[in-house]
Amino acid sequence: MIEAAYAHRRIDLMSWTTYRDRLAEDPVIFLPVGALEQHGPHLPMGCDAILAEAMAARVADELDGLQLPALRYGYKSQARSGGGQIFPGTTSLDGATLTAMVRDILREVVRHGARRVVIVNGHVENQWFLTEGIDLALRELAHAGTSMKVVRCEYWNYTPQSVLESMFEGAFPGVDLEHAALLETSMMLALHPQLVELAALPEDAPGAFPGHDVYPQDGRGVPASGVLAPARAASAEKGVTLIESTVAAMVKALRCEFVL
Ligand code: ZN
Ligand code: MN
Repeated sequence: MIEAAYAHRRIDLMSWTTYRDRLAEDPVIFLPVGALEQHGPHLPMGCDAILAEAMAARVADELDGLQLPALRYGYKSQARSGGGQIFPGTTSLDGATLTAMVRDILREVVRHGARRVVIVNGHVENQWFLTEGIDLALRELAHAGTSMKVVRCEYWNYTPQSVLESMFEGAFPGVDLEHAALLETSMMLALHPQLVELAALPEDAPGAFPGHDVYPQDGRGVPASGVLAPARAASAEKGVTLIESTVAAMVKALRCEFVL
């Protein structure tokens, strides 16, 4: 999604000459990563990428950074965090593909002269493949006698505990089960209400899973709607609080990390 207020930071929307000139200031480059994955009957399937992109855009704006176009596909959905690969529409990459994409993009931005990158992840299942892509890129760079600093983060880890506690009244189900639930629905209502179909909010019970995963995936424990925890208390107001508090914490952490 292109948000007009942040479009001037988007590398894909600028000329190569503008990009070259901006790189001379050694900006932090943001790469949002999401997934194309079912998010219940009420949210668009690009939700994880849309939210990662929105967080990255706001943080980049505060830190005078630049933003790469998001990776809008991610690693395979898992039952306990996204309902699994059993829904039409969920369109996932092999781990090696995602790893290679991250490695290739890092290799390219280093060639451009960038040395500071933040990968903002919006899809639980991506985490270790992003790490692997970073690791392979850094190993290759070390062989070539150069280096860069990469931060990989899941944006939800910055949301203050106090905010979560107030929203869930002490009953926070955990980030994994929050798939297409209160948090994502609220943030989507705040950002893109036209993409949320509130009338389609499901009434089914939350996901109930054993402590293990079974393959081939058979959908056991996954609610038929694909929504893993209750979303009915979602609101745009909560979404604004979530986005603002998360962005503020992320800005603070990255200022410290990059000495900005
Ligand atoms: Zn999601
Ligand atoms: Mn996801």
